[in-house]
Amino acid sequence: MKAFRCGDVVPGCARAFTGTEDEILAQVDQHARQDHGLVEVPDALVDQVRAAMVPA
Ligand SMILES: [Zn+2]
Repeated sequence: MKAFRCGDVVPGCARAFTGTEDEILAQVDQHARQDHGLVEVPDALVDQVRAAMVPA
């Protein structure tokens, strides 16, 4: 299991996610579209999310 805090990539966002890496990426993808208004999540952002994940 891993954990990711959106605030590590988007300052001020309080959302946090836990799960497998793939589960987190799927949740973050949806969250980025719904709450941050992204139409598409760029690979560079996915890399940032992966890098910010910590063991949980
Ligand atoms: Zn966020």
